[in-house]
Amino acid sequence: MFDYRLRSGRKKATGANFSKLALVTFFVICFTITMPLAAAAERVEDVPNPLAASGQYVGDGAGVLGPAYIDLINDICVRLKQATGSELAVITVRDLGGTTVEDFAERLFKRFGIGEKGKDNGLLILFALDDRAVRIEVGYGLESVVTDAQSGRLLDEHAVPFLARDEFGRGLFAVAKAAAETVAAASGTGATLGLSADPAAWPEQPKPVPSAESSDKAAVSASADKAAGRASFVPSLILTGAVLGLTGLWVFSALGRFGRKRSKAERVKAASSGVGYLVLMWIAAPVAVIVLLATGGFVLGPLLSALSPVVATILWSKTRKGMKAHAANYRLPCASCGSAMDLIPEDMDDAQLTTEELAEEKAGGMDYELWTCPKCGAGERFAVKLGKASGCPKCKRRTLVRASATLVAATTSHGGRERVVDACKNPKCDYVKTWERSTARIGSSSSSSGRSGFSSSSSSSRSSFGGGRSGGGGASRRF
Ligand SMILES: [Zn+2]
Ligand SMILES: [Zn+2]
Repeated sequence: MFDYRLRSGRKKATGANFSKLALVTFFVICFTITMPLAAAAERVEDVPNPLAASGQYVGDGAGVLGPAYIDLINDICVRLKQATGSELAVITVRDLGGTTVEDFAERLFKRFGIGEKGKDNGLLILFALDDRAVRIEVGYGLESVVTDAQSGRLLDEHAVPFLARDEFGRGLFAVAKAAAETVAAASGTGATLGLSADPAAWPEQPKPVPSAESSDKAAVSASADKAAGRASFVPSLILTGAVLGLTGLWVFSALGRFGRKRSKAERVKAASSGVGYLVLMWIAAPVAVIVLLATGGFVLGPLLSALSPVVATILWSKTRKGMKAHAANYRLPCASCGSAMDLIPEDMDDAQLTTEELAEEKAGGMDYELWTCPKCGAGERFAVKLGKASGCPKCKRRTLVRASATLVAATTSHGGRERVVDACKNPKCDYVKTWERSTARIGSSSSSSGRSGFSSSSSSSRSSFGGGRSGGGGASRRF
């Protein structure tokens, strides 16, 4: 007889590693395709905190105020702070990065934490030049003083008339002054800010910054498109690089694992796994293309993203074809003399197996593989686990086969029932278990209709504002 050494097949070794890698890739893809969205959403983060940057309550990112109005408006804010403790911030931005003035103001307010902590007596006047929008965002503590209606009136009466004529400095000065006086008057201390109300004494409205003056508006928008295209091109490049890089890594490690398998059955198994990875990629790629097309006009980015799963699939299928061909012609090298061993054919191999082992092979739970060396006569035996049958709880053999029969068919309106029979195919074992279970309704899926509210996490911003909060109160106007 042969001198068999038992080598058990490593259970789902390839499957587990493949799915792990596929999962990592999936997250990388998700991360990459959300990057353009995140970049747009992070515009609020780009606005510098004026108190931290220059010790002022005014941040003129849009460059519409000029030094004279910055000083005048800051003076209002300083006086308001001294008289009442309330904090007023006046911020101008070029644009809102695609979001609404309400959303932008709320997030900026939260980030700066305008108003004293606990009192939430903050006020933000946000101005967006390109969007031609202005908003007063009111902290919790001032909502009874500056109501939504009051905010709207302040904007209508003091801001909009000037802003509509592009007199941004005057408009923001006027509305800041009116808002500050409203807060001061209601503060209960009878505080007055002692501000001059003579428009004739107001400084001249500074000229808009050069880029807005540009006569060639098409050139401006073209360069904006180009910038947006570049923004979408970079994440596509990263996406494509990540997909191809990971696929390469994955193919490489799959080949390595394939090469370490000594039994033929495991090689065949290794050569036919890994489809899940590619399926994930094919799902993620169209999403990436849609996102990239929506966020930028550059064609090469989405094209690269669309091509990457195709290239990965070709690469992978070529590798798999090679592994399959290799597995088909595979001959185990003899451990003793190194020459190619012969696989004992199934019918002859059956004579070498016990009744239980034959039952396992027949049920599809195990494959027993017997090799013999034509030169030195050494033999080697492998036991490889297969998935068609599972372990029997009684005889412990991999001979348990599950069958199910529908009792009540599931429909789109209700679930069904089925009978499940777990029967052991080992002739020396009589284990049978019959039970019923309900089946899912057709097309049923867990739909989450719950609306997630605003996150109420306290931001730990290092602003020199007091840390006040707003609850979305205030008003916005377009001009
Ligand atoms: Zn040999
Ligand atoms: Zn059994």
